[in-house]
Amino acid sequence: MADLPRLTVALTFDHDSISDGVRRGDSPVKLSHAEFGVRVGAPRILALLAEREIPSTWFVPGHTLETFPASTEAILAGGHELACHGWFHEDFATVPRDEEREILERCAAAVERVGGARPKGWRAPYWSLGASSLELIMAAGFVYDSSLMADDYRLYRVRKGDRHSVAEGSRFGPEGPLIEVPISWSLDDWPHFEPSSDTGRDGLSAPSKVLEIWTEELRYAWAHAPGGLLTITMHPECIGRGSRMAMLERFIDAAAALDGVVFDRLDRYVEAWAAATGTSPG
Ligand SMILES: [Zn+2]
Repeated sequence: MADLPRLTVALTFDHDSISDGVRRGDSPVKLSHAEFGVRVGAPRILALLAEREIPSTWFVPGHTLETFPASTEAILAGGHELACHGWFHEDFATVPRDEEREILERCAAAVERVGGARPKGWRAPYWSLGASSLELIMAAGFVYDSSLMADDYRLYRVRKGDRHSVAEGSRFGPEGPLIEVPISWSLDDWPHFEPSSDTGRDGLSAPSKVLEIWTEELRYAWAHAPGGLLTITMHPECIGRGSRMAMLERFIDAAAALDGVVFDRLDRYVEAWAAATGTSPG
């Protein structure tokens, strides 16, 4: 696509920390696993990004933002983007509409307070959305969402008013102003590395396997999606372990070795994409 780099890589970090653990009343061990993200993971990641001069996007729940102000300040000091990710990392498929609206506003106001500007981006915790969520995200003034999976390397406009029923089949609504930055489980560190008793997933993958998946996606996007975006989702408490940080360094090396690859924040890529497609960014 004209005026966009050959391929943009977005390193994105969901800084969940203990936000969901507090809401669930997790045990001290689970809370400590989450605290690792603030205590060890985030400083390690921010040091690597500073060394490589890579701008990135951080989706930060309001609870993390306010409970760990030094971590928030370090993200801002590094020139990274702050975006919203719930308050207590709520599952929006289960939250009543009015409450969801209040949480969206509370999150945006908190980011604006610390970052000095209204946030552009929203990512639903657990990538879980209710029937009204996309409409409420648009109404709250977000320019982009990053919770859907209908594309891989191309942004798209979220449709409004899709209707699906067994009786009448599927009817698709028109595109709205909200821009989607698509994501994928395969490009998320969590399901590869973190065990889950809920799903029976064993996790604890070898970093070499994940590096192979991410690097092949990188090469495919570079070869087949000129002007596209490869979005990687990571969590400081997960990617921040030593063997995984080493993998992230190798992935960055692989991306930097390809001609025309740049790293950027999502807000900047979204703006450039809107300009390149001749549409307003929201
Ligand atoms: Zn999250």
